[in-house]
Amino acid sequence: MNADLHCHSTVSDGLLRPADVVRRAAGNGVELLALTDHDELGGLAEARAAAVDAGLRFVDGAEISVSWENDTTIHIVALGFDPGNAALREGLAQVRSGRDGRAAMMAEELARVGIHGAYQGALRHAGNPALLSRSHFARYIVDCGLARDVKTVFERWLAKGKPGYVAHAWATLEQALGWIGAAGGLAVLAHPGRYRISGADLRRLCAEFRDLGGRGIEVLSGAHSADTAREMARLAREFGFSASRASDFHGPGESWVDLGRLPELPADLRAVWLDLD
Ligand code: AMP
Ligand code: MN
Ligand code: MN
Ligand code: MN
Repeated sequence: MNADLHCHSTVSDGLLRPADVVRRAAGNGVELLALTDHDELGGLAEARAAAVDAGLRFVDGAEISVSWENDTTIHIVALGFDPGNAALREGLAQVRSGRDGRAAMMAEELARVGIHGAYQGALRHAGNPALLSRSHFARYIVDCGLARDVKTVFERWLAKGKPGYVAHAWATLEQALGWIGAAGGLAVLAHPGRYRISGADLRRLCAEFRDLGGRGIEVLSGAHSADTAREMARLAREFGFSASRASDFHGPGESWVDLGRLPELPADLRAVWLDLD
């Protein structure tokens, strides 16, 4: 099954419109797709309609920003929920409401290191202050000619500990899982191999996630090496998680892998899409 249960459109920090993401996925042979914009459901209707035309199965998704413990940002992918659910919609609106203020602070920090006009520059890429993400700042800094690609911008200015990074309180893990549960969805821990935390902390996170109702983890992610995927498969077995397959595609030339271009899941793991309806 060519499933891809994690990708982004212009409704968050992706480069393609929702319908174009779906058409590209279909062209790549994807059979089951979830669009998972950051903290936002606004692209789902367009994507679902395009999926009907393109002949692929579509699952509603979102990637929720969460602050775990003091200062670790993690991402939870929600799948197969009711997109009209008020608790989920209000929760996501609350998470988005922090983005504009954070962006203003990021622009101030960047100005201190000589990068001016970053708020307006990032906003030109985002289109909407409530969607402003570090990716939009990264694209502006590339526009300025200060780095050759967004990856380099993150390494120099936007990753935790770098001059343009501003700590932010997103949703709590409990809130995110509460909203997903209320909307009848399934919670998947996104790209677990990417968090810069110890193995012991990752296990603690998994235990907490499972105890709050979390069901799956992304064993295969565009951000995972083959070794990391093997480690995440062991974690799935240890905690009894279903396994997801997730490109985390943001756009041509800006992503680790293209839509659907991932290996098969290890045969002994339960695929997370078997848990959807
Ligand atoms: P934000 O939610 O505004 O903090 O932005 C997070 C987004 O930045 C992620 O969803 C990725 O799209 C992007 N991102 C984070 N780290 C990197 C990186 N090292 N290289 C490229 N993109 C990154
Ligand atoms: Mn992103
Ligand atoms: Mn993410
Ligand atoms: Mn993502």
